[in-house]
Amino acid sequence: MVTCPGCALLCDDIEVVVENNRIKETRNTCRRGAARMKGCVNRLAPSVAQKPDDIENAIKKAAAILQNAKSPMLFGWSNSTCEAQLEGIQLAKKMSAIMDDTSSFCQGLLIERILQKKFRTCTLDDIRNKADVLVYWGSDAQDSQPRHLSRFSYFPRGELRQRGYEEDRIAIAIDVRESNTAKICKGHFYRIPPKGDREFILALMDALSGKVPAYEPKKMLELAAILKKAEFGAIFVGLGLTYSIKDDFDILIPLADKLPNFNIMPMVGHYNMRGFNEALFKETGFVNRVKFDGKAIHDSRYSIVEALRKSIDALLVVGSDPLSSLPRSVIPHLANIPVICIDPCVTLTSKIAAVTIPCAVSGVETGGSTVRMDGKRVELSKCIESNYLNDKEILARLMEAL
Ligand code: SF4
Repeated sequence: MVTCPGCALLCDDIEVVVENNRIKETRNTCRRGAARMKGCVNRLAPSVAQKPDDIENAIKKAAAILQNAKSPMLFGWSNSTCEAQLEGIQLAKKMSAIMDDTSSFCQGLLIERILQKKFRTCTLDDIRNKADVLVYWGSDAQDSQPRHLSRFSYFPRGELRQRGYEEDRIAIAIDVRESNTAKICKGHFYRIPPKGDREFILALMDALSGKVPAYEPKKMLELAAILKKAEFGAIFVGLGLTYSIKDDFDILIPLADKLPNFNIMPMVGHYNMRGFNEALFKETGFVNRVKFDGKAIHDSRYSIVEALRKSIDALLVVGSDPLSSLPRSVIPHLANIPVICIDPCVTLTSKIAAVTIPCAVSGVETGGSTVRMDGKRVELSKCIESNYLNDKEILARLMEAL
């Protein structure tokens, strides 16, 4: 059995059929995981100044760019192993660099609150064994973490839930549209208007307190009754909720207080985003947006979006594609600074990079440690042989060269 690095569920029940040092077939993966484990469509090659070069020169040139930069930034990390993330943090400290990751514009603040113990949480195994009420809030797990319902939450039998979804579990979807997850929730779908989550939360808290809510009173009282009866519940917080409440997760604290049998879980996409958040939190007390300057300083200026607009003069990107995911307004800034890209595959960002350094595909060509969306540590396996250095080794070489 090996582990799939296709998303932060890190399914560790995967079988692979290897032929001629290639993965020919995968078993138990979802479609997303199968594509991920079969590797890159286009493999990245080493280059300097957009021309093919050898890996030694590419690493040397990357080190020179970082050394000459007054305000370098190291970004990415959510698709890197824990070992590479720790090496990256040491590199950032050595260079007094800014460090940020993709959680900066998704679930980072929620993970920070969980690490600060502001919310009750649990493991996915607890959910499989005990949960009777599951709330998918702004989350279409069926599309984003495709085995979530089948492996951990709704469909499986668990120690205390032997009758599974037929009798023992209720799944609820709260969303702006009837997603594929909502379609599975057998009538427990609560449609809200775009950006209507805050109003929904306040109305639900009224209903849980025994007051008649001003918003959708009949539906709210019905939902409150289901939640109050739960023996072990989970609220899966998706990006829909995160973006709607604009990262104001403190609004969920009084709701969680009214639901003492519920646990909060962030629905993380990238396979090791939580690993990076935990490592940086341990080092600095923050999960992202940090500048190392003797001590670690945390500020919104150090998010990739703000830093690109204002302060950085070189960018090292590890396992991420900011050119395809950042707001269009900051893209021109990427073209004005030297970008170094470490990735197994060709990406939009690698196409504009001053230096590209290919690495091994984690979970396929190299192993390493990762942290699942619920905080459980999971090991990746090496399935096939490869001559590529892994991302940790490349970062260690950069460190040596500085
Ligand atoms: S759900 Fe995620 S980890 Fe599991 S097989 Fe699919 S992509 Fe891989």
